[in-house]
Amino acid sequence: MKWEENVRRTVPYVAGEQPNKPGMIKLNTNECPYPPAPGVERLMREIDCGALRLYPDPDTALLVNALADYYRVKPEQVFVGVGSDDVLSMSFLTFFNGSSPILFPDITYSFYDVWAELYRIPYKTCALAEDWHIRPQDYKQPNGGIIFPNPNAPTGVLEPLEVVEEIVAANRDVVVIIDEAYIDFGGVSALPLLEKYDNLMIVQTFSKSRAMAGMRIGFAIGNEKLIRYLNDAKFSFNSYTMNLPAQILGAEAVRDAAYFKEITGRIAATRERVKGELHKLGFSFPDSKANFIFASHPKYPAEQLFWALREADIYVRYWNKPRISDFLRITVGTDEQMDRLLGFLTEYMQEG
Ligand SMILES: *Cc1c(COP(=O)(O)O)cnc(C)c1O
Repeated sequence: MKWEENVRRTVPYVAGEQPNKPGMIKLNTNECPYPPAPGVERLMREIDCGALRLYPDPDTALLVNALADYYRVKPEQVFVGVGSDDVLSMSFLTFFNGSSPILFPDITYSFYDVWAELYRIPYKTCALAEDWHIRPQDYKQPNGGIIFPNPNAPTGVLEPLEVVEEIVAANRDVVVIIDEAYIDFGGVSALPLLEKYDNLMIVQTFSKSRAMAGMRIGFAIGNEKLIRYLNDAKFSFNSYTMNLPAQILGAEAVRDAAYFKEITGRIAATRERVKGELHKLGFSFPDSKANFIFASHPKYPAEQLFWALREADIYVRYWNKPRISDFLRITVGTDEQMDRLLGFLTEYMQEG
């Protein structure tokens, strides 16, 4: 058909499946196994339904102020969006508008190349080292911007702050975005670097460490000018992206710092224990500082394990892609969930 010539064609990002089986163990999309903060549940019951008649605050002041208080920055330095996917997509549109290719790792969040294709941004990937670490020298070539997650996904590997700073400092003429979706599970945030670098932007999400993937909240922190440009693009796109319940409940989640620390600490403790157990079973993996483990076994192909686990209603993530087809990405759930996973693997391997 003739009209198809004018269609913007894209190959969409493929998210992990969202099955809903009773008794299943869902370790495939890095959600939090614990509920949101208790105040979130209480407030959810109290939200005035009549208030939904009106548009929500387009500036999302309640949520922006809560985040600014928590992270000790000015409200003008905070941008919020419908999940960090929304924040990242808007950032690609806003900051990656040059003719030089943007740079990101070859093994990384698989949404980056999708946005680059969608917005027709030239890009180049830089191969991670054999130990899955970023090679900082790769990011010292001419480029139109840089983005990488820290810790990286799906490897879980954390780069020390010195490496992040080395890359940001070497690229003062472009925007460098650090996607800190998993920083709260034991990483060191690049937030303190904001005082020194006006080309740095940090993106985080409520989906993993704040147990609110279903509410869709993400945010960026950067210098005021950067955030202003991001808002200009956002308000040219859709003014009312953050619905009222998300603003109210998101702000409450940020206020409960004690609960946040408790659940992220618990997940990190479970992760460390599971690392030991997986080692005993013969798995190897890069040392993860995220809420997942990227594991490979010398005897059992990852794809075979993926299907065997799935058959037992234990869902993990597998990609049949170059360099990572021998690995399973296993989200860290509760201790009970992880014990069932380990029990299944132990039995499976005993059978041969
Ligand atoms: C999960 C994830 C996101 C997006 O999360 P949202 O649910 O959209 O906030 C962004 N980047 C990375 C690396 C992720 O793993």
